[in-house]
Amino acid sequence: MKLSSDHVVNTFCKENKPALRVEAPATITVSTLDCYSNMLRQVGTEDTIIPSELINPATGPIYIENAMPGDTLKITINKIEIDSMGVVSCGDDCGPLAKHIKGHHLERIHISDGKADFLDKFQLQLHKMIGVIGVAPAEGSLRNSYPGRHGGNMDTNMITEGTTLYLPVFVEGALLAMGDVHALMGDGEVGGSGLEIPADITVSVEVISEKSYDFPIAEDDNNFCFIATAPTLDEASEKAVDTALEFLKTRLSLETHEIIMLMSLVGNLQISQIVDPEMTVRFTFPKKYLDTPYF
Ligand code: CA
Ligand code: ZN
Repeated sequence: MKLSSDHVVNTFCKENKPALRVEAPATITVSTLDCYSNMLRQVGTEDTIIPSELINPATGPIYIENAMPGDTLKITINKIEIDSMGVVSCGDDCGPLAKHIKGHHLERIHISDGKADFLDKFQLQLHKMIGVIGVAPAEGSLRNSYPGRHGGNMDTNMITEGTTLYLPVFVEGALLAMGDVHALMGDGEVGGSGLEIPADITVSVEVISEKSYDFPIAEDDNNFCFIATAPTLDEASEKAVDTALEFLKTRLSLETHEIIMLMSLVGNLQISQIVDPEMTVRFTFPKKYLDTPYF
């Protein structure tokens, strides 16, 4: 099944009209625009002011017929196929380094043989990832630039090929949407942008009934990763370890203080991004220590 990038939304909201309806389990290929709605790709478009509603378009939403509030949506990222050119930008209005520059700057970056050619000087290793992926919140409408419990603009490097993302379902049909693929991005996204690029994302979607942790969890071959967002890094960090502890209590036959010690010894608290309207961090814990090393 395919969904073209003609169907984009700029909010996660239960009122958004479904672009596609599928019965899970299903495998879907979703075409995505870059986070600037592909408006900065042509030479001469550098100074284009992009209206805020065209920033971070997400393709969808996809209505998952059997997903109900309280379920978990299991999204396995099978493949991210990127275009051969993307853009990176920075400006005096975004992020902690904004004070060092004036105006907006943009570089177009060509990709070949699995490397991104930056300034004809550096051949950068790709790390393809999805910046925006989420479901509709229970109430109201969240702009795509916001990360949160529903997913959204998490800009988390671990959301990559081979990773499985678990999102809580808040509304009937879940209303899954995604976009803002990066060919690579460093942790923190400190300059305000990754290598922003159009892509085709192939995901397999399943519904896990009545098993919801109320926050996004990512899983790869080796780790579970608990993703948390809050207005400050301190609050996000506390939330990430709180949610990790909640999950680990169900997977380890240990006393709470013993789990905390183990988290301290083998878990890693990492910064996902510090440039979106709220901060996102993740706590990564190796699966090999769990009694049940699967979701
Ligand atoms: Ca983003
Ligand atoms: Zn992006």
